[in-house]
Amino acid sequence: MVRSNCPLCGAHRVTPIADFPQVPVLCNALLATAQDARNAPKGDIALAMCLECAMIWNQAFDETLLAYSSDYENALHHSENFQDYARSLVSDLIQRHSLAGEVVFEIGCGDGYLLNAFIAQGVDKAIGFDPSMTNRSRIVANDARVQIIARNFDPEHTPYDCKLVVCRHVLEHIADPQSFLRDLLASLPAPNVPLYFEVPNAHWLLSAPSPWDVIYEHVGYWTEPSLIRLFHDAGCRVTKSSTAYNAQFLQLEAVHGSPAPVSDHAIQAIIAAGTAFAASTKDTFTHWNHILQNADAKIVVWGAGSKGITFANFAHNNGHHIEALVDLNPVKHGLFAPGSATQVVDPSALMDLQPDLVVISNGLYRAEIEDQLAAMGIAAPTKILL
Ligand SMILES: [Zn+2]
Repeated sequence: MVRSNCPLCGAHRVTPIADFPQVPVLCNALLATAQDARNAPKGDIALAMCLECAMIWNQAFDETLLAYSSDYENALHHSENFQDYARSLVSDLIQRHSLAGEVVFEIGCGDGYLLNAFIAQGVDKAIGFDPSMTNRSRIVANDARVQIIARNFDPEHTPYDCKLVVCRHVLEHIADPQSFLRDLLASLPAPNVPLYFEVPNAHWLLSAPSPWDVIYEHVGYWTEPSLIRLFHDAGCRVTKSSTAYNAQFLQLEAVHGSPAPVSDHAIQAIIAAGTAFAASTKDTFTHWNHILQNADAKIVVWGAGSKGITFANFAHNNGHHIEALVDLNPVKHGLFAPGSATQVVDPSALMDLQPDLVVISNGLYRAEIEDQLAAMGIAAPTKILL
């Protein structure tokens, strides 16, 4: 579906910012064989930016190409760095919203990692929806206080007694976020139930620049002003808006209520970064082509998430060979990345592989990755994917 106007504010002042043709439509669905991985369905990304509200989206997005299933795996919680983040996020939410002994509801809960963290820190019941959880095991198998419903969020099932709604890294996958938010708000048991939303921060992606975070699963690339605008338009008051995870995430809290205006200044800074994105991405690609060309050596990429898989595809499409993707998540081991068909291995496989260069897909994990490399006696240099 090609849209010429902004899907958020309807403005016609829209500009294309970058194209990424023929990328796997499900970057985070690994496949059992190299053949299946090479044949994984592909689609086009045509990023556009609204010059009025700083919304960024894929104009070429076709929702019918996507079907989230149990192959979909994007849990980050095998990293200690992420565990620390989740623990302090949960503790902060519990404290500020007095959630001890209460009910928390999460849309897009994955395997229940965060739900479990809420229970561990004193919440009485944690209920979540996630369509990718069909036939999959959850973090805590036998705790009646954690309930996971393995399908898309259905407003009829919002718990009547929930005291907080959490929705992390879901909104960017939704083609009609206005309807989604409207349905959620209409389903709340009371108008004062706070909402906590978290999405990747597109301003960070544009400025880094990190073309490795441009993936087909994401139809919307939210910036702080566009996210605030979405909630305002739905009749919400934004009570907190900030960046986290080294500016890679945007966090927003809101309740039903009268909105306050958004600063124009923020929009102008994003538009400048968006306008420069095509050129800065080209420089990034040239930089990595140069490194890969001259690295007459075995290269592995640590992190088989969006960034690592997108990088493996970039390398593959430019005629370079990546030996393996390394990941801590055991569910991914032995599987193949869509597109490049690069295999995912356990870190311990590096002792046999003896890489000459380790590309770290997210700089946030550098310290923990370098510790693990040192523990295995691997002296290969590392480079951060930016
Ligand atoms: Zn707009």
